[in-house]
Amino acid sequence: METISKIEKLFTIFNESAEILSKELEDPYIEGLAETGENFFHQAILQEGLSELSKKKLDQLYRSANLSLYTKEEIRKAFQLAILKGLKEGAHPNHQMTPDTVGIFMGYLVNKFFSDWEGRFVLLDLACGTGNLLTAVLNSLEMEEADSYGIDVDELLIRLAYSNANLQEHPVSFFNQDSLQPLFTEPADAVICDLPVGYYPDDAGAEGYELKADKGHSYAHHLLIEQGVKYAKPGAYLFFVVPNQLFESEEAPKLNKFLKEKAFIQGLLQLPLTMFKSEQHAKSILILQKKGDRAAMPKNALLANLPKFSNKAGMQSVMNQLEDWFKENKQNQV
Ligand code: SAM
Repeated sequence: METISKIEKLFTIFNESAEILSKELEDPYIEGLAETGENFFHQAILQEGLSELSKKKLDQLYRSANLSLYTKEEIRKAFQLAILKGLKEGAHPNHQMTPDTVGIFMGYLVNKFFSDWEGRFVLLDLACGTGNLLTAVLNSLEMEEADSYGIDVDELLIRLAYSNANLQEHPVSFFNQDSLQPLFTEPADAVICDLPVGYYPDDAGAEGYELKADKGHSYAHHLLIEQGVKYAKPGAYLFFVVPNQLFESEEAPKLNKFLKEKAFIQGLLQLPLTMFKSEQHAKSILILQKKGDRAAMPKNALLANLPKFSNKAGMQSVMNQLEDWFKENKQNQV
C-alpha cells in the first residue's frame, strides 16, 4: 500500500477511537487520543464504564490495525496528524508540537555530528511535549543502541509522548516534572530541545542558575540551556530550537559569557521564516558542544539560513554547504 494512504488509514483508526473515547469520557479529543494510545499499546480497553456499543466499536477499530505492518515513522506521522487535530481544537492553546520538518532535520544533524559514534548513546529531550521531536530524532538515528529520556512539565503532553513512544516501540524513560528542578536522568551524549520561550515564574527555582536574571523573572529558555549543558557529558552536543532574537535580549550578554565558558558554538541555522506566524516568532537551531577533553572550537561556526524545506534545489545547496562544513571540521567531532 502507498505510504500516504497507509498513514491516512492509521490516522483514521487513531482519530475514530479518540473520538469515541472523548465522547464517552466527556474529555477533549486530545485526552481521548492519549487514552486510545494507551489502549493500543496494551491491546486492551483500559477505561471503565464505557457503553457496550462503544466497546464493540473500539474493539473493531483496534483489531483492524496491525501496527507491525507499519514503520516507526509511519506510526509517528499518523499519530502526529491526530495530535495536530487535537491541538487545533484549541482545548489547550499553550501546547505546541515541533513540526515534522524540524524533527527530521534535527535527526539529520544529530546523525552528522555523531557519524563516527560507537556503543551506547544517551539522548535527552528537556521539554519533550508530545514526543514528536524526540521520536523523529530517534527514528533517524543510525546508532545501534540508544537510550533516551524525555521530560515535560505538562501532564497531558507527556501522556501523549508516552503513548507515541510506546506505539513506535521506543523504550524512552519519561519524567513529568519541571526540567529546571534537579533531574533524574544520566548524563547525555546529546541534548535536544525545542525550547519553551518566555519567563520562568518560579524565582526561587531560578536561584542557583548562572543565567538567572538580576531583576524579576528569568528567561526559562536561558535557564534550560544552562540545565542542558549541566546534564550533558563533557564533549556532548546540544541542539536547541531557539528564538531568532536569543542573542539580542537584555540578558544576552550573560548568556554569551556563559556559553563562552562552558561550550563551543558549533552552529546557528535559521529555520525558514515561512514556518512562523511572523518574523518576531521565527526560530533557529543552535548547536553547542559542551567543553571537555574531546571538544574543540570549529574553524568557523556553521551558519546558514534554511530555505523552505519543500524547496528541493535550495535545500540541496544548503545540504552541500553543511557537508563541506562537516568535512572541514570532522577532526573536532567525538
Ligand atoms: N518538542 C515538543 C514536541 O515535539 O511536541 C514540543 C516542545 S514545546 C515547543 C515546549 C514544551 O516545553 C511544552 O511541551 C511545555 O509543556 C514544556 N515546558 C515548558 N516549561 C517547562 C519546564 N519548566 N520544564 C519542562 N517542560 C517545560
